[in-house]
Amino acid sequence: MVAAKELWVTASELLRSQVSDGVWQSTFAQVSPVDLTGDTIVLTMPNGIIRDRLDGRYRPLVEDAVAEAAGHELKVDFQLLIPTLFEPDPSPELDFRSGSHATPPKPEHRQAMSNVGGDAGAVGHDLENRYTFKNFVTGPSNRFAIAAALSVAERPGGSYNPLFIYGSAGLGKTHILRAIQHFVMEVEPQRKVLYVSTETFLNEFVDSIKNSSGNDFKRRYRQIDVLLVDDIQFIEGKDRLQEELFHTFNDLYGANRQIVLSSDRPPDAIPTLEERLKSRFMMGLLTDIQPPDIETRMAILRKKAERDAILLPNDVSEFIAANIVNNIRELEGALNKVTAFANLNGEPMTTTLAEQVLGDFIADRQPRPITAEMILEETVQQFGFPVEELIGKSRRRPLVIARQMAMYVTRELTDLSFPLIAREFGGRDHTTVIHACDKISALMKERSQIYNHVMALEKAVRNKAHAGDR
Ligand code: ADP
Ligand code: MG
Repeated sequence: MVAAKELWVTASELLRSQVSDGVWQSTFAQVSPVDLTGDTIVLTMPNGIIRDRLDGRYRPLVEDAVAEAAGHELKVDFQLLIPTLFEPDPSPELDFRSGSHATPPKPEHRQAMSNVGGDAGAVGHDLENRYTFKNFVTGPSNRFAIAAALSVAERPGGSYNPLFIYGSAGLGKTHILRAIQHFVMEVEPQRKVLYVSTETFLNEFVDSIKNSSGNDFKRRYRQIDVLLVDDIQFIEGKDRLQEELFHTFNDLYGANRQIVLSSDRPPDAIPTLEERLKSRFMMGLLTDIQPPDIETRMAILRKKAERDAILLPNDVSEFIAANIVNNIRELEGALNKVTAFANLNGEPMTTTLAEQVLGDFIADRQPRPITAEMILEETVQQFGFPVEELIGKSRRRPLVIARQMAMYVTRELTDLSFPLIAREFGGRDHTTVIHACDKISALMKERSQIYNHVMALEKAVRNKAHAGDR
């Protein structure tokens, strides 16, 4: 099982770079590795359409990638996912090979671990399962946005077009876009849905110019039924991309296709955004997300605790929710730290403990902006690997963990999205970063060494940010 997953991480990284985002999302992201026996790897997928597509069109591609990952040829068996596979896996899947795993994880962590063990193949799946409407807590701060998103997911192109959602970092924009994608793919699998970060859109565009495959680029984007573009504020200053987006937008809009955009601010606050794009964006529905009130923050903590099978007392939830106000990503990170500490020390979760763990975190909320570069520098200091290795390709063990911790800390301390973190770390795939964050977050609960390293790294970075202030 572990072997199958490890192999599939590497293989799917290779595949990811060879197919378009659309194909990736609709086909490969749905694949999970289940077994590796003798000369055969078994891959499962949720339905026959995807299986036929893989078996027919993409078999050679998959076989090549698997062979490259394994170092020798393997047979590939595509099977339909059967319901029993959804049951939590009883074995913790830590691919942390150095050191032995002395104590088996406590039962209450199994669920969390089984979510985490999955790798790139499963990450696609996991990602969808996590970023759903069901897992999104609504409150007054986001009710309107979520109602609009649902309406769009139910009737793409039928109601609000485009839907433009804006709000500051960590308030759930990506979650909502992914939830729309997930919903449409599940309810109407025949529709072509594409989620892209503005980064990816830009990169593909630049590549298409480089390879003079501009027509492929156009064709690809203009065939889509539902196009979701995340973090559109990054289009600022990119004239040719704006031009291309404008045409894509007009084609899709004219053909009644759905467009959903997210941004950290409204269109008229994006400098250098062309007037005609601005007015296109404003044509549909503009909706904002505000920081959630304390009840919503507590409900989010409760939901996360339930999902990860954490026993979270009310007063602790209230303490965390009262102190972390503006960013759900930070809210989740804080819960993770407190849980990890309590778990490692065998102590119950109390407000005293939460205060102890989050003290620094709460006290210095406004340092000078922390960059991935600063985090990399501190990682070099702490672990002694040079930056080139941290952002390089080697999968040597202690290096991989250091790299993954650095990614986790970057996710925690900056507002960078997964694709942007991936870029800072040597242009990897964003699912690699998601996997790293999940894995470190789970390991922190199991291994005090990891917990201590992460806390020390965060502290060093924050101290440095403060030093820069003075
Ligand atoms: P943004 O894209 O706006 O920066 P994200 O969508 O990445 O924010 O959200 C950050 C984290 O907070 C994600 O893990 C997301 O699942 C979670 N989150 C945000 N809002 C909610 C909510 N209302 N309910 C549950 N989880 C949320
Ligand atoms: Mg986002």
